[in-house]
Amino acid sequence: MTGSKTVVEVGDSKVMVDCGLFQGLKSLRLKNRESLPIEASEIEAIILTHAHLDHCGYLPVMVRNGFKGKIYCTHPTEKLTEIILIDSAKIQEEDAERANRHDYTRHEVAKPLYTQEDARKTLQLFSTHNYDEWVIINNDLKFQLVNSGHILGSAMVELKVGSKRLVFSGDIGRSDPMLFTLQKRSGKLTIWLWSPLMETDCIELKVQKKDFYRPSKRLIVKVEF
Ligand SMILES: [Zn+2]
Repeated sequence: MTGSKTVVEVGDSKVMVDCGLFQGLKSLRLKNRESLPIEASEIEAIILTHAHLDHCGYLPVMVRNGFKGKIYCTHPTEKLTEIILIDSAKIQEEDAERANRHDYTRHEVAKPLYTQEDARKTLQLFSTHNYDEWVIINNDLKFQLVNSGHILGSAMVELKVGSKRLVFSGDIGRSDPMLFTLQKRSGKLTIWLWSPLMETDCIELKVQKKDFYRPSKRLIVKVEF
């Protein structure tokens, strides 16, 4: 998975779960330069499942483009994300500087996707929470972070919209867990949204009593109950 971003829209409120950078092949990395089909300033809050770059590495772009809300995550995820974002910004600055020095880009000036300054501004928006603590975003939306056993601080996001639950798994567990066995979470109105890979702009789903849904190649999933 790479470039993970999902937007949940409830009434006037839009919340993004994960805000990842595309990594790997150049064709994928170029997607980081494309504009999103939604304005950054329209997003009320961002919730992170964990600190891997493909789940948090796009945050400074969102902040530079006008996102001013809170970035929610666990305490360890904040600490790890700080290291990851500053490092990522530094690499991008160095790559741009090298490209300009050697004129790789032929006449165009290479610019980093974001700078260390963008990353530092991003870090000011963090709001950290314990596992299994309900956090209220607004009258319609609250969530809790549930240990997913993937890396230090990693969590599934359990969103509560009225009486309905939406669970975003993020990356789950490890192939051979030594310290943590994944908690089973079930329920008729639970919908599992796997980290999606962005290819199309938007799909609409009318979901009814599905226990498991795994979208792939999608950016925005609209779920209607
Ligand atoms: Zn991961």
